[in-house]
Amino acid sequence: MSDKRFIPVAAPVFAGNEKKYVMDCLDSTWISSKGKYINLFEESFADYCGVKHALLCSSGTTALHLALIALGVGPGDEVLLPTLTFVSTANAVAYCGATPVFIDSEPGSWNIDPTCLEQHITGRTKAIIVVHLYGVPVDMTAVQAVADRHHLPILEDAAEAHGAEFNGKRAGALSEIGAFSFYGNKIITTGEGGMVTTDDGDMAEQIKLMRGQGMDPTKRYWFPVIGYNYRLTNLQAAIGLAQLESVDFHLGARRDVYHWYREELANEPRLGWQDEPAGATSAYWMVSVTLGDEVRHSRDDVMTELHARGIETRPLFYPIHSLPPYIKPEYEGQFPVADALAASGINLPTWAGLSRDDVRTICRELVSLL
Ligand SMILES: *Cc1c(COP(=O)(O)O)cnc(C)c1O
Repeated sequence: MSDKRFIPVAAPVFAGNEKKYVMDCLDSTWISSKGKYINLFEESFADYCGVKHALLCSSGTTALHLALIALGVGPGDEVLLPTLTFVSTANAVAYCGATPVFIDSEPGSWNIDPTCLEQHITGRTKAIIVVHLYGVPVDMTAVQAVADRHHLPILEDAAEAHGAEFNGKRAGALSEIGAFSFYGNKIITTGEGGMVTTDDGDMAEQIKLMRGQGMDPTKRYWFPVIGYNYRLTNLQAAIGLAQLESVDFHLGARRDVYHWYREELANEPRLGWQDEPAGATSAYWMVSVTLGDEVRHSRDDVMTELHARGIETRPLFYPIHSLPPYIKPEYEGQFPVADALAASGINLPTWAGLSRDDVRTICRELVSLL
């Protein structure tokens, strides 16, 4: 077994013009946060998602923060979001001085449960954040119906869902505003990076202002507001543009990996899978399974043993209501679906460089531990 290569849970793949565009930046000396690749990547990404505006920023987390600022979220406001997500979905709300209000997961899709939203809406509720968890689009029809009844905007956290679709529209174009991440393990990457997408011109202008220290666009070095330095560099945008040019390759390779897992594990009733809602096409960010109660080993032991055999996996996110900054005694037992998924779920290696043989090896080792 020692001659086998280690299989990481995620890794970037550079299949196109990444090196060429980065060299072009170096040759031109345009390596900072102005330059043609910023504009090209923004325009191409807006086209790809089907929105009017796409605004680059330094990370998925800062994209969420800028989007919440554009929605007017501030101190005293409440924002609804799923508890089963990456921590920065809630942190961005906290950065605004607002309160995250956690919502349980749907058993099938593992996404925010639309039937749990209404009971948490108060006079202070300002917005709903949905997260397309592990690339599986949220059932937007159900969430939109609640949002419409209460006149609330929806922010899509699409950090894991570049190219995912719901009813023929792409993630990032499914609500008022969307936020993407280009971290190294995401579907396409710039190393670190983020993007906000919207059709709303006023929100786009405000995001441009706030990501660049709040500098007045018509008067250089004049600062009417307190802004942030949330800019991305031309160097990173160069990588992003090349990655976007090969997005069909990345999505296709991930779809193949997903189907290989489903084939290899088709006869394994002790595993549970994340469902795609009707009308949804996943981007397959992380193929994930839950271990049934009848499995012999604990979830953590299975992951430790897989690692010893050269296979890296991840636990599903710890629900945010269980993390120290967000714990409240009254949350105890309030999120039974998210807690059960999180306790039994494993993210399996998912990226564009995996071979059919890799997936076969991973599945053989996993099944031997059930
Ligand atoms: C990765 C991720 C983020 C944060 O993106 P960064 O670029 O790491 O800041 C936010 N939300 C979700 C759901 C993510 O997976």
